Amino acid sequence: MAAQLRTKKGKSKPTLLNRLELNGDIIFAAVFIPHEDSIITLGADKSIRVWVMRDNGKYWPSVFHHMPDVGHSLDFNKESGKVFVGMAQGTIHEYDLSDDVNTLTLARNYLAHTKRVNGTFFSLDYNWLLSCGNDKQFQWHCTKSGRRIGGYSAAKAPCTCLQFDSHSCYAFMGDRGGEIHVFKLSENSLKPVTILKGHSGGILSLTWDEERKLLFSGSADQSIIIWDIGGQKGSAVELHGHRGCVHNVSLTSNTKKLLSYGEDRMLVMWDMTVERKETPNWSQSDMCEKCASPFFWNFKQMWDQKIVGVRQHHCRKCGRAVCQKCSDKVSVLPKFGYEHQVRLCQECFLTIKEEDKVSTTAFYELKHGASHLQIDHSRGRMLTCGSDDVVMIWDVKEFLNEHS
Ligand SMILES: [Zn+2]
Ligand SMILES: [Zn+2]
Repeated sequence: MAAQLRTKKGKSKPTLLNRLELNGDIIFAAVFIPHEDSIITLGADKSIRVWVMRDNGKYWPSVFHHMPDVGHSLDFNKESGKVFVGMAQGTIHEYDLSDDVNTLTLARNYLAHTKRVNGTFFSLDYNWLLSCGNDKQFQWHCTKSGRRIGGYSAAKAPCTCLQFDSHSCYAFMGDRGGEIHVFKLSENSLKPVTILKGHSGGILSLTWDEERKLLFSGSADQSIIIWDIGGQKGSAVELHGHRGCVHNVSLTSNTKKLLSYGEDRMLVMWDMTVERKETPNWSQSDMCEKCASPFFWNFKQMWDQKIVGVRQHHCRKCGRAVCQKCSDKVSVLPKFGYEHQVRLCQECFLTIKEEDKVSTTAFYELKHGASHLQIDHSRGRMLTCGSDDVVMIWDVKEFLNEHS
């Protein structure tokens, strides 16, 4: 089914400014150096490059450094000039980038993991380096001494991404099994807090709203979940708009919009000022909760009534278990986070008014198979990269302003 594109009013969209290529080698990660026309990239040729835009408008490397291994994750801290690169074999390299971005010096090597490092997070406030990887481990190092402070090894699947809140010292780690591990770090102890379970596919991206204490997760199950961590009520609102894995979720600087990017090459901007309802739990039943037809595993009733069992479906608004006949209606349901058409029971369908169908998102096709996206809010720029040999740089200044 074709994606429902109901672009809201507003004309500006991301404009492609520049492309940066690596002679056919895949670029695994790229980050902006905020406030500047500079970008750091990690390539499949084991390179780390720092690119600076020249007078002719093209990017050229000011640093080209060969590493002993392929880098997969990249974290840059502007204040300290520190660059952290997570490697395919599990080590993390710490580099110092000079202010003029012309020199990159290896400062330290952390033997943090035994398999590929997928996420690093550097906290300058605490001088901590947090990391996670395919070895299913979370590791915690001190960047002053280089020593390991602690770790966490209760994940059952490779760990993909990390977030850290420096106020509460909560760390959030997503894994490929769809779980999000939450733990609290203090001076030298780690306390597991909870595991957030809600996704049916691997967690691919996490972002944290420091002000409202909301955690956003993008998953291979094509959905995004907003976890209300600060609210302490355990509420979790789902967002459905992508037709493929959600590779990336990031917030605009005023946190009023959430940007997500997926395998479907759609950039989706979600209005975060909208009140959305939690998706109802799906009820479990052996028969349709409307017409009482037995579902196909309900042999007793099928036998007693000499009828054929039917398939179970669920109404997305009330969550009731219903048969096809009783749920042959579809509608968008933006207030429940559904931006594409979903199944509804006849009863719920009658309650949907035109105003309930107004979209709370804007969709843009980027035509770029990227898995990584970053926004430099200071300059209104966005970069995308990840599964091919090009980094694309977009002007999103008006786009972000118009939709904020
Ligand atoms: Zn029915
Ligand atoms: Zn219903």
